[in-house]
Amino acid sequence: MLYDIIIIGGGCAGLTAAIYAARAGKEVLVFESDAVGGQISTSPKVENFPSIKQISGAEFSDNLLAQATSFGAKLIAEKVAEIKDGETKTVITSGGEYECKRLIIATGVKHRKLGADGEEDYEGKGVSYCAVCDGMFFRDADVAVIGGGDSAVITSLYLSNICKKVYHIHRRDEFRAESYRVNELKTKSNVELVLSSNISSFEGDDFLQAVIVENVNTKEQRKLEIDGLFISIGYSPDSEIFKDVIALDNEGYIIAGEDCKTSADGIYAAGDCRTKSLRQLTTAAADGSVAAVSASADI
Ligand code: NAP
Repeated sequence: MLYDIIIIGGGCAGLTAAIYAARAGKEVLVFESDAVGGQISTSPKVENFPSIKQISGAEFSDNLLAQATSFGAKLIAEKVAEIKDGETKTVITSGGEYECKRLIIATGVKHRKLGADGEEDYEGKGVSYCAVCDGMFFRDADVAVIGGGDSAVITSLYLSNICKKVYHIHRRDEFRAESYRVNELKTKSNVELVLSSNISSFEGDDFLQAVIVENVNTKEQRKLEIDGLFISIGYSPDSEIFKDVIALDNEGYIIAGEDCKTSADGIYAAGDCRTKSLRQLTTAAADGSVAAVSASADI
């Protein structure tokens, strides 16, 4: 079957695109191999989407999917391995090959990794990238969080209510997170800030037992005995598989302007995966609608 529009990614951008394209009467297929809703699905609360005062990320995601499918969009839980550009576009997944007239890429971003020795060995064995998903496994335990942005500070605040002790490690002595959040973090009696420090190594047997942190100024090392480490150092795009078909920037973001058009005719990029200055739910939704309306024209 030749679909009008295939959308890769079932986050806010992808599902908004699905809503717009399906309402325009197009045959729409969405691929999402992970959690529907993308990044926002694990957010405890969303308070900055216009007209919704407060909602959990999970409920927001469920609503998005229900809305898209109610207009006729189909969702398949297969992982996309490759795309090909030609007279039609081909999407090759873990389950087969699919053809479409227009393609919208809305693959978002993935958690950035520290790249430190041992990080991958302890993934799922003490090292986590999601406090909402894994925090409860560390109830009354000692943990550490690394990062200086909003995500990291939110993670520490969340864990301070669950864990016995939270070491908050950051490579500088100033945070880029909003100051009111940092001030709240400083009031928590079970949170210790470990600033101007990087993690130099991991220690443990089957599970993580400690990290060695090194002060960037004094080079002094300190061992933090912890059961869990939450890495919250930002995101990078999930776009490697597209690099032979469309242009990416140095960091791997898909090069596309506000019209969401990529370097290949009929292929669009929407949401956090494209070059842009503000990556938020609202801008993802805006991109999804722009890409879908443009992709739906003349087909
Ligand atoms: P971010 O703002 O990019 O912060 C990443 C942090 O990780 C920075 O403090 C950075 O340190 C540190 N870092 C990066 N690479 C590192 C490495 N290799 N080793 C050690 N530290 C490293 O990422 P984010 O916190 O995920 O936020 C992303 C965007 O979403 C931001 O615009 C943020 O404001 C927004 N956000 C908003 C909310 C909200 O509720 N409004 C919630 C979460 C996120 P440096 O500071 O030294 O560069």
